[in-house]
Amino acid sequence: MLELRQTTKTYGEGSAAVHALRAVDLSVAPGELVAIMGPSGSGKSSLLTIAGSLEDATSGDVIVDGAAIADLSRNEKAQLRRRSIGFVFQDFNLLPGLTAAENVAMPLELDGTSGRKARVLALEALDELGLTERAEHFPDDLSGGERQRVAIARAVVGDRRLLLADEPTGALDSVNSEAVMRLLRQICSRGAAGVVVTHDAQLASWANRVVFLRDGRVVDQTSPPTGPETLLAAAAPNPS
Ligand code: ADP
Ligand code: MG
Repeated sequence: MLELRQTTKTYGEGSAAVHALRAVDLSVAPGELVAIMGPSGSGKSSLLTIAGSLEDATSGDVIVDGAAIADLSRNEKAQLRRRSIGFVFQDFNLLPGLTAAENVAMPLELDGTSGRKARVLALEALDELGLTERAEHFPDDLSGGERQRVAIARAVVGDRRLLLADEPTGALDSVNSEAVMRLLRQICSRGAAGVVVTHDAQLASWANRVVFLRDGRVVDQTSPPTGPETLLAAAAPNPS
């Protein structure tokens, strides 16, 4: 679903050049959730913005759903982002003037889905994330954990096959963080490919694989000791 081949990202030029990514290879299959860990400045956000076609790589190939991003026009990239890629950010990025349901419906409406159909799909996505009762609430009336679940609903509404989350639990307490990771894991188990940046090794253990970045390079890859099924089975109430 996502493949980076020898992907490089350099910001600036000459003596001011910053090598954010250096010859990164990464593939993420449908059904797989990969966690990215690494110190601040190691290239984690650069990797996500390039995988999401928000920025161009300096060199190397980025392939999303079989298409090489470098071969796509600006419009085709925009369409790929609207239809196939879901983004989740640390600060939620919900529009305060729209209800939860309207926030979730927005990407579909932007892509030409009728208002009525977009609403039905939005309510389904909210329902799956346990937010049925919150559909008509505005972001300011939701808790942090609820807001992040609305943001996840917006990222997965419709038929999105690549989910990119940059520190989605950064503003959440440990209970809500575990809940968000469990949701990402479940969504990927149903067939999406996911990449999630996190600083927390325990949260990273929800992923099928953990990739460590340092100075723009992949320095290590692991599999968590327990498989995702084990984690899901043990997921019930958080001990803390
Ligand atoms: P991380 O998310 O792991 O903290 P980033 O991908 O944000 O790392 O940044 C990697 C490196 O690239 C850092 O040195 C950062 O300062 C630099 N960088 C990121 N974005 C830009 C940009 N738009 N212009 C210049 N340098 C950037
Ligand atoms: Mg970052």
